[in-house]
Amino acid sequence: MSSPSSPALPNSTAQRDVESLIHPYTNLKLHQETGPLVITRGEGVHVYGEDGTQYIEAMAGLWCTSLGWNEQRLIDAATNALQRLPFYHSFTHKVPDVTVDLAEKLLELAPVKMGKVFFANSGSEAVDTALKLVWYVNNARGKPNKKKVIAREKAYHGVTVAGASLTGLPACQNDFDVPIAGVLRTGCPHHYRFAKDGETEEQFATRLADELEQLIVSEGPDTVAAMFAEPVMGAGGVIVPPATYFDKIQAVLKKYDVMLIADEVICGFGRTGNMWGSQTYNLKPDMMTMAKALSSAYIPISALMVSDEIFADMVKESEKLGVFGHGYTYGGHPVACAVALETLKIYEERDIVGYVQDISPALQMGLRGFHGHPLVGEVRGVGLVGAIELVKDKASHASFDAKLGVGMKCAKFMQNNGVISRAMGDTLAFSPPLIITQDEIAEMLSRVAVALDQTLEWLQSEGHFAP
Ligand code: PMP
Repeated sequence: MSSPSSPALPNSTAQRDVESLIHPYTNLKLHQETGPLVITRGEGVHVYGEDGTQYIEAMAGLWCTSLGWNEQRLIDAATNALQRLPFYHSFTHKVPDVTVDLAEKLLELAPVKMGKVFFANSGSEAVDTALKLVWYVNNARGKPNKKKVIAREKAYHGVTVAGASLTGLPACQNDFDVPIAGVLRTGCPHHYRFAKDGETEEQFATRLADELEQLIVSEGPDTVAAMFAEPVMGAGGVIVPPATYFDKIQAVLKKYDVMLIADEVICGFGRTGNMWGSQTYNLKPDMMTMAKALSSAYIPISALMVSDEIFADMVKESEKLGVFGHGYTYGGHPVACAVALETLKIYEERDIVGYVQDISPALQMGLRGFHGHPLVGEVRGVGLVGAIELVKDKASHASFDAKLGVGMKCAKFMQNNGVISRAMGDTLAFSPPLIITQDEIAEMLSRVAVALDQTLEWLQSEGHFAP
């Protein structure tokens, strides 16, 4: 397998990249030396580098390309939509017909009865809208002081000012002068990392719910409006909630009239083995955000669903004010809606959720097979999302010194072996296209095994891991 293109090559795409592009989520200084891996095409679960190298895209890009890289029906849906109505908006009592079709379809699929759908273009925008609606609706309800929102350590809710404020990862906040006021932080439900000695999953969940209750009580329940939560935390490291967690958390929220916003941007559309992560973990949200697999990521689109009660209060408030003064130019874009509709049709016709249920044991059992590896502390996951966390000491769960960049190094070894994973600290994530086959999972895992051994050899040769 080849290494990424060198930015030193004059006029190469890599060189032009370094001279022209600001890269999201990248060490900008390091990038000037390494340059990018330039991807030129994709097919099925594979993408191809400029030099023809094939990679298994074990992250479906950014947890999103659910139907793989060459679904002709989506390409046709986009082409036809472009020919028919390349743009129209939904402002001021107008709407593209296909936007209504998609809204209806999403309401039909919702895990709990939802009232209405609002369209945006990214997960962050959907989250941003949800936060604004929490405030708008509590103003409508005559509760102007009930405005604080709760999010968890290691949460990921995007990068807009609201999204980055809710996200619980230091890199998204440091020196960006967020979080905004009124964001409260509660514990991360990662049993392996944060449970006390001997604490069962159920006991850990009880403690987290107690801590949540203490937080709400100490802040004043009449000042706390909502909690945002991913059913499975994605970018925080694929954190699967411990047994009974969401039941206990939701009981506390209910007790203090705190809304629940399920951030389904990663979990939605089959990833966890049900259509929604909310179904896998029995969440009853008041609002839900979704994006990514909504269109198999072929085109940007996101949505926010809200309950009937919330919508009724939005109507009241907009009547009072004269307008619901919020909306994105491209929200409900007819081309994006046509692609999303076709995506949902394909999910139904091919029973993608059933397929994930059938195929996911191959991924989950396969990953759990790495548990015996000297570097692997924890293997976790559900459906077609999983992770392995590398540790220095299995007994104490002690991590490597972050400066060593063990996770990044392991991801690099994987890439050299033709697998694109993602390192989040020393956790390596796997979230392949939902169409991945048993053979492709086996091939991916065998390459991951090689990369794990290479990581171990490297650590030993550098004296960071005793043989
Ligand atoms: N919420 C969650 C749970 C996400 O995983 C993401 C993106 N990974 C976002 C929100 C933000 O989405 P976007 O990058 O489209 O703004």
